[in-house]
Amino acid sequence: MFHKEEAGCFDNHLAKLKNAVIMMVDDEPINTDVIQIHLETAGYRNFLITDKSGEAMGLLRSERPDVLLLDLKMPDVTGFDILAEMRREQLLKHIPVIVLTSSTSPETKLKVLELGASDFLSKPVDSSELILRLQNTLTAKAYQDQLAFYDSLTGLPNRHLFIERLTSAVKNAADDGKPIGVLHIGLDRFKQINDTLGPKIGDMLLEEAAVRIRDSLRSSDITTRLGHARPWNDLARFGGDEFSIILPQYRLVDDLAVVAHSVIESMRPIFVFDEHDVYLTASIGIATYPDDADNADTLIKQAASATHHAKQLGRNNFQFYSEEINARSTERLKMASLLRKAIDNDEFLLHYQPQVDPRSDKVIGVEALLRWHSPIYGNVSPAEFMPLAEDNGMIVPIGTRVIQEACRQAQEWRSRGLQNITVSVNVSMEQFRKRDFTEIVKEALDKSGLYPGHLVLEITESLMMENAEKHIKTLHELKELGVDLSIDDFGTGYSSLSYLTRFPVDELKIASSFVTNIHEDPEHAAVGRAIIAMAKSLGLRVVAEGVEKKGPLKFLLEKECDLIQGYYYSKPLAKEQLLEFALSMNGHRDNGRFDDPKKTPGLSG
Ligand code: C2E
Ligand code: MG
Ligand code: MG
Repeated sequence: MFHKEEAGCFDNHLAKLKNAVIMMVDDEPINTDVIQIHLETAGYRNFLITDKSGEAMGLLRSERPDVLLLDLKMPDVTGFDILAEMRREQLLKHIPVIVLTSSTSPETKLKVLELGASDFLSKPVDSSELILRLQNTLTAKAYQDQLAFYDSLTGLPNRHLFIERLTSAVKNAADDGKPIGVLHIGLDRFKQINDTLGPKIGDMLLEEAAVRIRDSLRSSDITTRLGHARPWNDLARFGGDEFSIILPQYRLVDDLAVVAHSVIESMRPIFVFDEHDVYLTASIGIATYPDDADNADTLIKQAASATHHAKQLGRNNFQFYSEEINARSTERLKMASLLRKAIDNDEFLLHYQPQVDPRSDKVIGVEALLRWHSPIYGNVSPAEFMPLAEDNGMIVPIGTRVIQEACRQAQEWRSRGLQNITVSVNVSMEQFRKRDFTEIVKEALDKSGLYPGHLVLEITESLMMENAEKHIKTLHELKELGVDLSIDDFGTGYSSLSYLTRFPVDELKIASSFVTNIHEDPEHAAVGRAIIAMAKSLGLRVVAEGVEKKGPLKFLLEKECDLIQGYYYSKPLAKEQLLEFALSMNGHRDNGRFDDPKKTPGLSG
């Protein structure tokens, strides 16, 4: 269905008409071919054509075209039959039908009009007449749709259109397996305000609230999170003081929470009308497909009941329908707020996991891994708190500290007898995207005095692939500083070889998911062998992580994997323990990685 979402000039309107879905039913394909050619010349592009009249009703039900061009005389099911059946169906009876007929008899025409056809055209059709009739019919339909499917006060889709869109979103989601979130927004105490200040101000308030909700959906944070170009198009006025939003294909329920939060925040500034200051808040309920329900009706009911629950809890908040998600979401909000304080309270520290050359058993490098000692939660794993920190932007200041501290530490070890050890630092995409990232790295190197070639920056493969072209420039800037670059969790993303040759990287880390059983699982073995061979041919160093046992170690040694990181040698260690471990492995005066010039790693290093 096409809609006049934002009223524009006439040309704009005509352009929108060209998006209409035009269905044709005629038992002789030559007729529909000719019409299609005429219409394509006029700029129409969406056609749905069948020469089997028996299939027409099914197609109408599943596709709901904007207009139907219908032949009358067809074997089995005739045009009359189709017309009559359409008029009996609630969802089809408003679809305009233009009947094509070679009959000139007034009785036929009358009967056709009585059955609800909007217009008819004589066969063979005249192209300019066809185009004119179609345009008129579609314009009338667009106008009717506007009345029938849009709210006149706010201009938003109304409940009918919302339900229709949600129904079709559920149908699509069932096909492509993606989730849908439904947000049901209730304005708190609206009725009271309306009664006190009168319906005129009530209307203005609704209009303004609709604008604020829509604008909050336009924020770039939300559009990037949802990966959905225009989430505000799926905002509807559901009823008096209720609005609804469909959020298809969201990634995490947390993203739905962020949307709800931002809608609630948008109500915060005072509304001012005719010298009245009005305070308004919103309560929001969220239901998800397929977890909470598998159909539009139930989703709507559940979202509304969650809104009711939010109101009972004191309004101005959001609730998920699912108890479990509610509990998790509350917990994560709590953790996020503690995480904010954790930097100032100095609750983060780094542990270091040795990277060992399996031929000499010497510690060549370490990977710095972040640890959070929370007074409330105890030790929290990065797998749990990194996504939160990435979400609320805290990863950037945290990550900067990690780089500074890792450089400082490596330099300190050096003065205590551990020479030339490299330190690898994980970099999240949020950090990497910041314009001053290279500057931050340079400062950390300058301040610590660490030799740039002893710092390795790890970036995960999947993140790198997301915006490869854009990142290449930053990678080159970093290379110019002299640091090494590594692709972490390699094998889990979808790097193509051609990208690898264009990234100025020095190292690949085989994802531990391939390493654990690399010696017994033929598929993992094949992936491992291929990665090592590819890395060798590109002159890259290969690190295998997650090596716990002798089996994988033996395999990797045979395949000439350069470095091993894993519990087999050591878990991540606190800084003092690491120094002790490395000194005992390497002999008390360590000369590390670069005493053998053949081992100097990297493509461009
Ligand atoms: P990663 O960079 O792939 O780090 C390797 C993870 O595997 C570490 O988990 C390490 O403790 C674990 N590991 C190492 N050897 C073994 C083994 O033999 N067996 C098993 N089962 N696990 C092993 P950790 O420390 O929990 O870190 C998880 C992830 O969190 C890291 O994966 C990294 O992506 C992220 N991370 C950690 N620190 C930082 C940081 O400072 N900045 C950023 N952006 N991400 C970090
Ligand atoms: Mg890593
Ligand atoms: Mg990794």
